[in-house]
Amino acid sequence: MAKYKVTTDTEACIGCGVCASICPENWIMDDDGKAAPISAESDADCNKDAAENCPVQCIQIEETA
Ligand code: SF4
Repeated sequence: MAKYKVTTDTEACIGCGVCASICPENWIMDDDGKAAPISAESDADCNKDAAENCPVQCIQIEETA
């Protein structure tokens, strides 16, 4: 199973909620209205879908294993 390093540019996030909707395994909406990964190291494949569907492309996914 792949492992992903997940980072997000909080400044760029517009708080649309798409990532949390596509990949609830690893994305939540924070109290400040911005998205945050539950874990910066995640094996959920849906992280990739979240990154691809982020309208401002502020999610970076790096496959680490
Ligand atoms: S999809 Fe992108 S812009 Fe929308 S909440 Fe997630 S990180 Fe923010």
